[in-house]
Amino acid sequence: MEKKLERTEKIKFFDINKLSKKYIADNTEEVRVNNQRMVKTIAVIYLIVIICYNIIVPVFFSEWGVNYVYQIALIVHIIILPIILLRYRKTPRSAKEVQVVSAIFQLYIMAFVVIVSLLPFEFEQPAVYFTPIAMGFAVVFIYSFNVAIILYCIEALAMILTSFAFKSSEVFNVNMFSTVLSFVIGVYIMYVLYTNRARESKHRKKLRKMGQTDKLTNIYNRGATEAMSQEYMHANSETKYALMIIDIDEFKSVNDTYGHQTGDMVIQSVAKIIEDAAGEDNIAGRMGGDEFMVFVKSWNELDDIKEIAGQILRNAQKIEMPDDRVHISCSIGVCALKEDEWMEYDDMFSCADKALYYIKENGKCSCAFYTK
Ligand code: GH3
Ligand code: MG
Repeated sequence: MEKKLERTEKIKFFDINKLSKKYIADNTEEVRVNNQRMVKTIAVIYLIVIICYNIIVPVFFSEWGVNYVYQIALIVHIIILPIILLRYRKTPRSAKEVQVVSAIFQLYIMAFVVIVSLLPFEFEQPAVYFTPIAMGFAVVFIYSFNVAIILYCIEALAMILTSFAFKSSEVFNVNMFSTVLSFVIGVYIMYVLYTNRARESKHRKKLRKMGQTDKLTNIYNRGATEAMSQEYMHANSETKYALMIIDIDEFKSVNDTYGHQTGDMVIQSVAKIIEDAAGEDNIAGRMGGDEFMVFVKSWNELDDIKEIAGQILRNAQKIEMPDDRVHISCSIGVCALKEDEWMEYDDMFSCADKALYYIKENGKCSCAFYTK
């Protein structure tokens, strides 16, 4: 169902580049692996082709003639391509490096074809095969849409200019015609492929979001909050983080007094308040029921945390209820680590929970810090 919805979604032409960049950013590892595999595969194919060309052509198509350029190329390729293959065989290279190398590779192959086309052979041959191949390169390697189009334009332009070097008008026509034709077809194919990538990117993002957010409040769910916090803890050695658990006071009485629907609205309002207080830099999520969590990625003074807690406590009390029978308030338990302290996520959580329990037992509607 979800997939069908996405398939019919229209992608605007001017959004393709932005979306293809997003696709690369969101799927860095996949793009890197694909591009690295592509560099390897094409290096192997190219190595085979250049070896065959030096062996098969002289034997079977002696009239074509294999001149010294091919022989030099053979030597150069036999040295360079295995180096590329070794470098890209197993070790993961950085995403940026793979992209740059594949672009250079593509331009280099084009330059080689142009040089060969321009050589004074006995028989001029149009490089009809080249433009479609160039198109293939531009789309198999995952660049952003604009980069792929620019590379392809450079290659098509190089082939068109090469045509003018041919003395035979027949060869000129064939070369020119095939270049222009495959350029038009190529740009269309690229458009279709990149539109699909853009769609795929949007689709994945939606799926990811669906799995990560809490249905009622639209903030992160428990799984996502925990995973993101743990990921952050393991990636940052500067351990000045804090974990706060927020629980609505006497929430059962909201449900009992006004019904479940009003209860849901209160949960949504509190979620919004917590999300705003946590800000973009921190992680806010719903643990379930009337319990929420904020993971503070870094703090300098305890006042930084108190500020967030204070904002939540104040704004929760401002939530408007149908009448005066029930007022909303929250309790907050905090576990804050200093630079030289380390705790596993689960231990931080249970410390914050102890602090929360303490404040629930001692008047509620306030914030408590865990201390040993
Ligand atoms: P305390 O001050 O000790 O936290 O008291 P409390 O009444 O808030 O107790 P507790 O946190 O244990 O109660 C949570 C209640 O929240 C229990 C459950 O009926 C209600 N609840 C859990 N999930 C939802 C929900 O999605 N919507 C609504 N309306 N109520 C929910
Ligand atoms: Mg509660």
